[in-house]
Amino acid sequence: MMQLFMPLNFLGFVYREIRAALVNIEQMFGLLATKPKVEDQQNAASLQLDDSTSENNKIEFIDLRFGYQPDREILKGLNFTIESKQTVAIVGGSGAGKSTVARLLLRFYDPTEGKILIGGQNIKDVTQGSLRQAIGIVPQDTVLFNDSIFENIRYGNPDADDSEVQNAINLAHLDEFISQLPNGSDTLVGERGLKLSGGEKQRVAIARALLKRPPIMIFDEATSSLDSHSEAAILEAIEEISGHYTSLVIAHRLSTIVNADVILVLEDGQLVESGSHQELLDKQGMYASLWQRQNQGSSKEKNQRN
Ligand code: ATP
Repeated sequence: MMQLFMPLNFLGFVYREIRAALVNIEQMFGLLATKPKVEDQQNAASLQLDDSTSENNKIEFIDLRFGYQPDREILKGLNFTIESKQTVAIVGGSGAGKSTVARLLLRFYDPTEGKILIGGQNIKDVTQGSLRQAIGIVPQDTVLFNDSIFENIRYGNPDADDSEVQNAINLAHLDEFISQLPNGSDTLVGERGLKLSGGEKQRVAIARALLKRPPIMIFDEATSSLDSHSEAAILEAIEEISGHYTSLVIAHRLSTIVNADVILVLEDGQLVESGSHQELLDKQGMYASLWQRQNQGSSKEKNQRN
């Protein structure tokens, strides 16, 4: 019996590993819609970060310039720091360069000038594998596999036991949603199963990322409209992440990032303002007008609904 069990167990392990690898790759490319253009240096070292509790996970963007094509610069000299366990949000109009910042942090491209340091190490000098292992991504759109919702979440960390998966479900505020499904957490989702809304999918992505427990989190907030329940859950999930991980939030809804430690306002590849929500409102600059515009938009939406 044991002889039979061992290979099956091993095959199961290989299967889970492959699925997890696929999810990670899919998440990165799904979020970033791009292919890696960089190679590891010969003898590149691994990124040295202890874990999410380390005080040494600060991220520094130093004089960073980048363009996808040589004749069109997208990021025009960025300088900012995300201190260990801080949450920094980037806001700005469409095409300002927000996602490009995330792509460079994951080293899908190298900057044309300047550098990015994590824990004092230039990400150009470390292996891409170790860099991406250290970063959890909550992409805008998550692919779900044709499996139970519980197993879909376990993809974030195939080694996690059931109680860890359950904990991630609770942290991502999926427990109530799951309790209403016909077969609870055994309900099949994905291609041939239940279809989830954009907000529910993003919460699955949050649970997966939380299960991975990386020192660094990139949160790419969904642009598609979210129902108010999902929006509240995502806001709470960002709050949950805050203070535990060094996190970068690419924000489309300003309401979700009012509590970020620092908000960076990006316009045409340059930082035009930075500060806390209140500091930026007091400045009455670009952030304040974005805030006003979004609030007017949402109160109009509410009035139309009523
Ligand atoms: P949004 O809020 O609409 O997602 P964003 O601020 O995230 O916008 P980016 O996706 O970073 O903006 O894009 C910044 C600029 O770079 C845009 O003008 C975009 O057209 C351009 N760009 C993005 N990806 C590529 C690419 N792979 N090749 C060439 N140009 C690109």
